[in-house]
Amino acid sequence: MAIVLGCIADDYTGASDLANTLKKAGLRTVQTIGVPAAAYRLPDVDAVVLSLKSRSIDPAKAVALSLDAYAWLKGQGAEHILFKICSTFDSTDRGNIGPVMDALLEKTGDDCIIVTPAFPETKRTVYMGNLFVGHVPLNESPLKDHPLNPMHDSNLVRVLQRQSKHQIGLAELATVTKGAAALRARLKELGRDGVRAAVADTVFDADLGPIGEVAAEARLSVGASGLGLGLAQAFVKRGKGGQSDAALARLGASAAACLAGSCSQATLGQVTAAEKIMPVFRLDPADLMSRRAAYLDEVSQWAADRLAKGPILIASTATPDRVRALQGQFGQAEIGHAIEQAMADLAERLVEKGVRRLVVAGGETSGAVVDRLGVPGFVVGPEIAAGVPVLGTSGYRHEMLMALKSGNFGGPDFFADALKLMA
Ligand code: ADP
Repeated sequence: MAIVLGCIADDYTGASDLANTLKKAGLRTVQTIGVPAAAYRLPDVDAVVLSLKSRSIDPAKAVALSLDAYAWLKGQGAEHILFKICSTFDSTDRGNIGPVMDALLEKTGDDCIIVTPAFPETKRTVYMGNLFVGHVPLNESPLKDHPLNPMHDSNLVRVLQRQSKHQIGLAELATVTKGAAALRARLKELGRDGVRAAVADTVFDADLGPIGEVAAEARLSVGASGLGLGLAQAFVKRGKGGQSDAALARLGASAAACLAGSCSQATLGQVTAAEKIMPVFRLDPADLMSRRAAYLDEVSQWAADRLAKGPILIASTATPDRVRALQGQFGQAEIGHAIEQAMADLAERLVEKGVRRLVVAGGETSGAVVDRLGVPGFVVGPEIAAGVPVLGTSGYRHEMLMALKSGNFGGPDFFADALKLMA
C-alpha cells in the first residue's frame, strides 16, 4: 500500500517528535534511521519519517541527502512531502533550509508552498512572519546564542529569503484565521506574483487546521511537528490513514532491560524509583575508564545472571557534582563518549543474551545504542509519556520493542510505565 505522507527530517530527535505526533493524530507511522537500504521492506503504514542528520552539515551534502530521501519516499508512493525542520528554524544564511527547499521545489514543481515552523501547543508561534519562542521573538530567545546557528533575526521571510533563490512571501494571520478558502486564494495570488514559498502566520492551535488542509493540496511543505499535525488531520479528514493501529509484536514473555545514560534531574529520580522494583547496577565511570573490557564483561555477566527473573537496569546516572568531578578528571567529551559507547556495547550484549524489550534513557545515549544495534527503522506505537512512544523495530534482525527517551521526559515511574506498555 502506498503511503500518503513522506517526511524528510533534518535531525534525529526532531524526527521522533514528528513521528509521535503523526501517530497520535491517526496516521500509522514508521520512522527510519537514514535513507533505507534497497532490501528494506516497509510495513503497511500511512506515513514515513526519514531521519537524516542534515541540519548543520555542508549545504550541498544536505541537498544530496534530502534528494535521496525524496526519491525513496516517492518510490513508496508518497502524495505529499513534508521537509521537517526545527521549530526554532535552526539555520544559517548558507542554509540548510533554503537550499534543501529549493531543490525539493524543483522536483515537485509546486507554485507556492506553505512554510511554518510554528507549534502553538509548544509555544512556537509566528506572527507577521516573526517567530516567537514563548513570550519573546526568536532573536531574543536563547537561540541567539546557539553554538552552531545563532538566530539573530526573528523575521522568517527575511531569514528564508537570504537562503533561497526564490521569492519568499507571507500569508498573514488575518487570512489564515478566515479559513482554508482564504488561505488557498492568498497562495494563488502570491504564486501569480512569482512567490514560491510563503511563511504562514500561526498563532493559535486552530490555525493548523486550514494550514494543514491547504498545505496537503500541494506536493511539498516545510515545517515542524505543528505543520505535521495539521497535515495528518487533513489526511485523516480525507479518509486516508486512521483505519487501524500498526501492529506491534507482543513480546511480554521475552527478557527486558533498561539502560540509563542520562544525568538529568528526571532520570535521577526515575533510576531511584526503579530500584524498588528491579535490580539496578550503578556503573562506575572511573572503573570503566581504567579497565574497560574486563569491567563490561562483569556488568554483562551481572545482567545475564538476572534476566530470567525479570527486568534489570544499568545506569551511569549521577548527580551534577559527581558528573562535574568525572568531567574534570577525564574531560567532558571523553567521559561522555566513553559512557555512550559502553552503553552501546552493553545493549549489543544484552540483545545477544535474548533481551527483546529495551528501554534507554538519554538522547545521545539512545542515538549511540540505535546506531550500534543497526536498527533501520521503527513502527511508532502507543505513548508511554508525553513525546515518548513504544517503538517496534522494523527491518531489524530481531523483533524488538524499544523506548528511547531524552533525559527530562517521563514521570517518576517512567521505567515501570514503559515496561507495562511493552508487556
Ligand atoms: P540527556 O537526554 O539527559 O541529555 P544524553 O544521553 O543525551 O542524556 O547525554 C548524557 C551524556 O552524559 C552522555 O554523553 C553520557 O555518556 C554522559 N554521562 C552519563 N553518565 C555520566 C557520568 N556519570 N558522568 C559523566 N558523564 C556521564
